[in-house]
Amino acid sequence: NTPLHELDPEVAAAVDAELHRQQSTLEMIASENFAPVAVMEAQGTVLTNKYAEGYPGRRYYGGCEHVDVAEQIAIDRIKELFGAEYANVQPHSGASANQAALFAIAQPGDTILGLDLAHGGHLTHGMRLNFSGKQFNVVPYHVDDAGLVDMAEVERLAKENSPKVIIAGWSAYPRHLDFAEFRRIADEVGAYLWVDMAHFAGLVAAGLHPNPVPYADVVTSTTHKTLGGPRGGVILARSKEFAKKLNSAVFPGFQGGPLEHVIAAKAVSFKVAASEEFKERQQRTLDGARILAERLVQDDAKAVGVDVLSGGTDVHLVLVDLRNSELDGQQAEDRLHEVGITVNRNAIPNDPRPPMVTSGLRIGTPALATRGFQAEDFREVADVIAEALKPGFDADALKARVTALADKHPLYPGLK
Ligand code: PLP
Repeated sequence: NTPLHELDPEVAAAVDAELHRQQSTLEMIASENFAPVAVMEAQGTVLTNKYAEGYPGRRYYGGCEHVDVAEQIAIDRIKELFGAEYANVQPHSGASANQAALFAIAQPGDTILGLDLAHGGHLTHGMRLNFSGKQFNVVPYHVDDAGLVDMAEVERLAKENSPKVIIAGWSAYPRHLDFAEFRRIADEVGAYLWVDMAHFAGLVAAGLHPNPVPYADVVTSTTHKTLGGPRGGVILARSKEFAKKLNSAVFPGFQGGPLEHVIAAKAVSFKVAASEEFKERQQRTLDGARILAERLVQDDAKAVGVDVLSGGTDVHLVLVDLRNSELDGQQAEDRLHEVGITVNRNAIPNDPRPPMVTSGLRIGTPALATRGFQAEDFREVADVIAEALKPGFDADALKARVTALADKHPLYPGLK
């Protein structure tokens, strides 16, 4: 029963340093968030000790009566949250959920249509080095010159290639997808529609983004992005049509024992996601992203070659276009890091620079909204970012402004 700090001071020091980093800097990686203490508490419980291969009520191990309760609560809550008839809360991650979902509705060698990685898609939507790209025949679709998914191209490619699956979803895209139009195209060519809502699930739960569940055959998500829970994945479906195939793709198809401690934490986060407080937080997330986009299209930003893809945002992130800036994505990321703001560089459509450098930044507001940031705070962050991307920026002055914001909204005040 020796506590971590005594048993393993080296690991404890890394954990402490990470807590301090999260508390003292501004986290603006669009795929990150801060899980509530209760969620982390559930994740740090004895449920980590339990083997529970199978599903609630149908396990391959004894002693599952309590993890069954926690897993069933998670299933019931997420079904209710998104209006789904089917849910699987066992996927260890978003990528695991996607792997299981794809193998449940398609066979290796089948054709899949997904948004090109370089245009905002995810690795699991057909990137060449990913299982999806290696085992399926991938036809990528793209965004148009305005930065919007080119639905005419989706329809044309669908008709030309008769895909088994059309994937709608993204990791870097600032607008809503037209799920009804994807459904129409899928029906026209006899394809399944899989929506990966990993990024925007929290917005959907809050009723601030269209819900893909009524349109898609299968919906996957992570639980740790806008949804604000523990790191993990889920699979949902509007009906039970694929329930057997989806369940058996997760277990025994790709996974063994589920992480019941994480599943309990997912259940807690789904309770939070159904609350009024969560809805209000998602609204601040959206407001923050809009404030940031508005700041980065102003004349002084344009004058130094900074622009915003698609001219704004409807979601929790902004894609900054640096093609006309003297900074590349790497340099801009480093600069913001220097003043205490964490973002990630991101390839933009038709990026002239290589993927490790890029000409873009992806900046998100979920973590700061969770931290309590209000519109006035987002205005200040947006201004700091705009100033940091200018030549001759004053790193010390900007860092002081960042520290003032971090101090104004303490993160995990009870943790040390
Ligand atoms: N799907 C989308 C759209 C994502 O953006 C991500 C994560 O970046 C994933 C799936 C994969 O999630 P994970 O990192 O948990 O495997």
